[in-house]
Amino acid sequence: MPDPIRDTFWAIPGWSQALLYAAVVATAVAFVLGLRQRLGPILRGRPAPERLARWPERARRLAEDGLLQVRTFRRRYPGLAHGLTMWGFLLLFLGTTLVFLDHDFGLAFLRGRFYLGFELVLDLAGVGFLVGLALFTVRRYGPRPASLVHGAADGWILLLLFALGVGGFLLEAIRLAVVRPPWAAWSPVGQALATLLVAAGLEPGTLRALYLPLWWAHAAMTFGMIALLPFSKLLHLLSAPANVALRSLEPAGQLPGLDLEASETFGITTIEDLSWKSRLDLYACTECGRCQDACPAWATGKPLSPMRVILDLRQELRATERPAFPWAAGAIPPPDERPLAGGVIAEDVLWACTTCGACQEVCPVHIEHIEKIVGMRRNLVLMESRFPAEVQLALQNFERNFNPWALGWEGRADWARDLGVPRLADGARPDVLFWVGCAGAFADRNKQVSRALVRILQAAGIDFAILGTEEKCTGDPARRIGNEYLFQMLARENVETLNRYGVRRIVTTCPHCFNTLKSEYPAFGGRYEVTHHSAFIAELLRQGRLRPAKPLDRRLVYHDSCYLSRHNGVIAEPRAVLAGVAGLRLVEAPRAGSASFCCGAGGGRMFMEEKLGTRVNLERTEELLGTVPDVVATACPFCLTMLGDGLKAKAAAERVESLDLAEIVERAL
Ligand code: SF4
Ligand code: SF4
Repeated sequence: MPDPIRDTFWAIPGWSQALLYAAVVATAVAFVLGLRQRLGPILRGRPAPERLARWPERARRLAEDGLLQVRTFRRRYPGLAHGLTMWGFLLLFLGTTLVFLDHDFGLAFLRGRFYLGFELVLDLAGVGFLVGLALFTVRRYGPRPASLVHGAADGWILLLLFALGVGGFLLEAIRLAVVRPPWAAWSPVGQALATLLVAAGLEPGTLRALYLPLWWAHAAMTFGMIALLPFSKLLHLLSAPANVALRSLEPAGQLPGLDLEASETFGITTIEDLSWKSRLDLYACTECGRCQDACPAWATGKPLSPMRVILDLRQELRATERPAFPWAAGAIPPPDERPLAGGVIAEDVLWACTTCGACQEVCPVHIEHIEKIVGMRRNLVLMESRFPAEVQLALQNFERNFNPWALGWEGRADWARDLGVPRLADGARPDVLFWVGCAGAFADRNKQVSRALVRILQAAGIDFAILGTEEKCTGDPARRIGNEYLFQMLARENVETLNRYGVRRIVTTCPHCFNTLKSEYPAFGGRYEVTHHSAFIAELLRQGRLRPAKPLDRRLVYHDSCYLSRHNGVIAEPRAVLAGVAGLRLVEAPRAGSASFCCGAGGGRMFMEEKLGTRVNLERTEELLGTVPDVVATACPFCLTMLGDGLKAKAAAERVESLDLAEIVERAL
């Protein structure tokens, strides 16, 4: 057998080769100009230097969610469709680049066994590419998920990609049918097609004559696709991996800071206020609809669709593009004269968000919705003084009483009066500070949880104390409502108190306090080892310092709080606590762990009325009741309140109890 070799320009006359290179140059120029049009608004964004640091970690994340498509595969069907299409496309693109290097740089490495393997891999890649496209076609033209955005251009893109894949195989088949190289079996698809062409009676002369026009059609479609890529949905081939690599590496529950001294305007007033990374987010959206499907506000009939927020902001950003070609100017949308917050994005949309993070958790390209929504809330609150009336009351209470209710700050430690809990102000310097939180200190139902945790800590012999009246709200709701000024004031005062007492270790029953103390206070000089009580109790059980000997014969479903599970990854610990109590039979909700469904109280929504759609807590309660539990357990004061209310509204409170983990463990002690 002669040495297998790649004959790159088989049956292509010299003039066609010369014309091809001219077309390559023209395509490259068009691509670069188009990309410049799209990149312009991104590069004009505000600085985000933190996104250009920690490259080893970014490379790992890119490999995970860019190359291996881990997140995309969480949904099997679209994951498979996307994976096959993307991997097939990448291999075919790489193959074409190698052919170019082999031929034009005279490297001549496509020879012998390497060439045979190369042919086989490209054939398989071509099959994967076409199968992926077929799956996409079924998804788009078969029964389509309501959330999937489908424009006319999507159909044309699918058709173009199909034509490219099929055309590549046809060209290969003609070459093999005419040349009949002894290594043709290494291109199984091309060989099978070649056999069909011959069986159909096509003579070598006819096939040869067909080759050149087909080759040009294939080349023209390829160049067309590359030139139009910046202007089509295919832009995500570039913007999506870039967005994955440049994603936030901070804890998911942490909101970006705001320098109140240096700023003249606060929050996101216009599209100009977005950082370059936020702008990249907008161009990276693939319109897959996953965020909308996961959003509790959307699911309960509110006007908030996180996808729509991104697409509406993108429309605004596109209006700032400078056209690459005169004829492209008409495609740029005119700027919307309305303000961003409350205009382009309606106020009801912004106030519907619970900051639960479900949208960000499922977004395959790691778009960050919450910073944009809270950024626009900051604008409404700090610049426009526009917010729901009931928010006004909560904000006043934070300022006067350091809690969201009209309850005097001096009563903050009343819940612990008969428990013998020491306070730092009385000279106690314990190993652990129990951060009680506003709900744990003031809300009757949550006070019971605080008391249960105290008894657990006492039973385990933990040296602990509380701040009592010196504790103030962490500022979590104020920050998420958009009142950064109030949040920073509370944060500074709390940090000053904690640092004055030299506090190092904190345990808290509230995931919102946990998130803020752990992830947001370091920016104010407060660095503590913060543990949620679920993890703390799990550790006590593991160490044998707690022995819940009394069996509880109950069927229990555990509701994951968004700020505990999704935002902070505390998922195994609450389950370890429940597993440590004899007799409990834990059943999982359909949406659990990081995929949990919000109770409706986060993002300051605990203090807002829910006037639109159905109630989020009822939707979640219904789902939990579907597991036929005796107990709905949680580890968050807001969730406990919302689910307790949900059980009452569903007339299930008589047969199903809502309990915090601490209460369950205390009962079993
Ligand atoms: S954070 Fe939650 S409520 Fe807000 S847009 Fe995302 S999914 Fe919807
Ligand atoms: S924001 Fe993310 S999840 Fe939502 S539609 Fe765009 S790509 Fe999909």
